[in-house]
Formats: sequence, structure tokens, C-alpha cells
Amino acid sequence: MFRATKIGATLGPASATAEVVGQMVRAGLNFARLNFSHGTLESHHALAALLRQLAHEQGEPLALVVDVRGGKIRLGLLPPAGVTVNTGDIITFNTAAVDYQDGEIPLDWPGLPGQLKAGERILLDDGRVEVRVSRLTPERIFAEVSEGGTLASRKGLNFPDSALKLPALQPSDEAALRFAVAVQAEYVALSFITSAREVEAARQTLRRLGAGQQELPALMAKIERGEAVRNIEEIVAAADAIMVARGDLGLELPEEQVPLLQKKLIAVARAAGKPVVVATQLLDSMQLHRRPTRAEVSDVANAVIDHSDALLLTNETATGAYPAEAVATMAEIITTTEASPYDDTVLSTVPKTNVSTEKAVSELSRLLAEEVGAKLILAASISGETGRLISQVRPPLPILVATETEHVARQLNLSWGVKSFVILPCASIEELISRSLLYIKQHQLAAVGDKMIIVAGEPVGQAGNVNLVEVREIR
Ligand code: PEP
Repeated sequence: MFRATKIGATLGPASATAEVVGQMVRAGLNFARLNFSHGTLESHHALAALLRQLAHEQGEPLALVVDVRGGKIRLGLLPPAGVTVNTGDIITFNTAAVDYQDGEIPLDWPGLPGQLKAGERILLDDGRVEVRVSRLTPERIFAEVSEGGTLASRKGLNFPDSALKLPALQPSDEAALRFAVAVQAEYVALSFITSAREVEAARQTLRRLGAGQQELPALMAKIERGEAVRNIEEIVAAADAIMVARGDLGLELPEEQVPLLQKKLIAVARAAGKPVVVATQLLDSMQLHRRPTRAEVSDVANAVIDHSDALLLTNETATGAYPAEAVATMAEIITTTEASPYDDTVLSTVPKTNVSTEKAVSELSRLLAEEVGAKLILAASISGETGRLISQVRPPLPILVATETEHVARQLNLSWGVKSFVILPCASIEELISRSLLYIKQHQLAAVGDKMIIVAGEPVGQAGNVNLVEVREIR
């Protein structure tokens, strides 16, 4: 059955072999994320090569998302058994140390003490451990443990009470961006973005690193700070996509706000025609168990009903015991939910003014498809933008997008409802249709006698000139 909401998975030690990633692809994987907060450059290169090889072998436009660490503050190196801190203890973080010495916990952010105030909370290890700042020196943070636990190397810290000013991109992130350019990643995900300016700065860096390269990664802003939520309109305008990064978002802001923020962020991104990915803890218990909890099944279904473009598995596939099962489970929940009326959208029929031709044609394609009972929409899209515009209006039928490069086809594999494929450049609309029909028939997407809606531009082969929408019967 056709599935419109896309599935992404974070690759890691649990999904580092051709066998496991192959199973995930067969279960419905559309894109993979490499998380530069973990792993080495070598392990990321190996995973990127594996993904490209599988995309080629299985004929799937699998997209690669390189997630750069950005301004996430983490602990340094701790002993292998971790460091246990007990409620009521006074502990010391040393921002000048890289490993655990003299009972002081290393923290990789010089200058941080100057940005904190006594009384502010610090959450560690996904909020499992909580401390409160008691005293500060230029290099050290002294804090009282209010919720004890065991800390391990490289665990992240969140500062829900502090107004930190941290540059979104760190000097060490340049290696991740260089990697993304070298492997021609379809997206770079930017962690802890707070403003449009930071998105633009990342774009400049990518342009500099990829000078002369045509197919640079698009930018996905991860929304995980209160300031990003406040600046969401400008961030969405500057970025190419967003991620609702619920893990950190639910630590930086009160967790009960996350479901509502998810709805708001999806609505803003969709109104702008930018793909929106919902991430983290969607099937969390599948790290250890073959079956998810009923609450997790509901969470996935509700993220579909909220109109996400894509859902991203994180620990379930990076370190969990059942990575392929998690993808298969997610695919089942999505298709069941999409078959119900609960995720349906209504196309606004209120006439608007000053709508671009591309947008008007996209809306019309959905209207026409529903009125004539078409089986699919076929769009020609050089840059992918027409595909995203049609996806934005959520037509209840497959959106086939014929494009000229693997890069664009893969980039579109994060967009709701889009099934993208590559065709050779065409000289006319007729050639475009006949080449696309070969693909449609080969993949049994429609049969002779079915109607399809064509969205294209005359003359063909130019980006941004969509001006034609037409009904065709398949012969
Ligand atoms: C998140 O915080 O939800 C998230 C996806 O970030 P990461 O996994 O990169 O920490």
C-alpha cells in the first residue's frame, strides 16, 4: 500500500552492516541520519558508502542527512564505569579538563561558567540527573545534586533556566560540513539553531567548502531551544526543512509543552512549504523489545495526524536491538493511520490573490485529481520545488516527481507523498510523459485506463517555469 509519511532512521553501531540497513530499506526506510555527536569520521564514511551502495542496489532514492553537533554541551571523558553522583552531593565541573581528574567532571565548554548564575538547573543525560549551580569560578561550576544517578562519557547537558549565548556552529563542526559536502549529503541538520542568521552562516560555510560543487546539501534546522521556537518564522524562512527535535526540546522547555509545540512547528513549516521531520522516542521501548508500547503507537499515529512530512527514529535504530523491526512497525502504524480519515486535509477553496503560478498549479493539481478520480499526480521538477509545493497541499494520492539528478530525487524522499525518480532530460512534454509512463508501468503504480494529472512547464527542462496542469488517461 502507498505510504505518504516518510521514515528516517539514525544509523549507528546497531545498524552498521549491509544486512541490517538492507532489512531497514526493505521495511520502508526513506532516509538515514548520521549523527556527528557520536561515531568517528571513519565510521561515518563507512555508513555513507553503505547507504549509497544500498540505494543503488535497491533502486531507492535513499537520502542521507548529516547531523552536525553544533552548540550541544557535553561531558568529557569519564572512567568506563561512569561516575555516580548522589542526591545532596556537591560536585565540580571543570571546563579546562578533558578527562576525569581529582573527582572533577570534565566539561568541554571553556567560558561556560561566565554565562551561568547560582540557582540555575543543569540537566544531564536526558534529564535523568539534575543539579543546581551553587558557585562559579572562571573555570569551574560547583553544583548541588538534586537528582542523583550515574554519568557516562560524552553525555549531553541542558540548561533550561539559563540564557546561553553559544555559537550554533563550532570550529569542530567544520569537519562534519566538509564530510557532508564530500559525500554529497542531501541534507545537513543543524543542532541548536536559534536564529535565521545562524542558518545563513551555515549556508555560507557550505558554499565556501563546496565551492564549484553544484549539489550542496539543503539545510534542516533542528528546533530544540526556546529561542528557536520564538524565532520559528524566520528560521523556517531561512532553512530548507526543520526537525522537531523533541529530545532536547523537552529538556530545554517544560516537557508538557512538547505535543503542542510539535503541532505549532509542523503548521508553520507546512504553511511555508518546507518539509518537517518529527524525531525522538517515537518507538523508544523498541530499543529493548520487539513490540512498542501502546502509547508509542499512539504517538506515531498522532504525528501522522499532525501532518508531519517524515518521522525519524533515533536510538531505536542507532543502538537498539530491533532496528529493522522498528522501521517495519513504524511503516505499519503510518499506513493504518493514513487509511483513516483522521489525517486528511481539506483544500481551501477560498479564492486568494497574488498566488504564484507554481503554487496555484499545485493546488489545482490536487483539486483536479480528486474531482476526476485520478490515480496519481505526475510532476516534472528540476529543482524539486514543484514536488514540495504539491506535497504541501497533501493530495490523497501518490505524487510522482520526475527529476534529472539523483541528488534532487533523494532530497525529495523527505517530502510527504512524493515518489521521486530520475529520467534523462526531455525535449518535450510528450517525451517526459512517455518516459515517466515506463516508470509508472514498471512499478505498477497505475494501469491502462487510469487517469493521471500532469504538472509541468513548457518549455521543459527549466527550473521554476511550471505553468501547465492537465488530465491524461493512461494508454
Ligand atoms: C533530539 O534532541 O530530539 C535530537 C534528535 O537530537 P540528537 O539526537 O541529535 O541529540
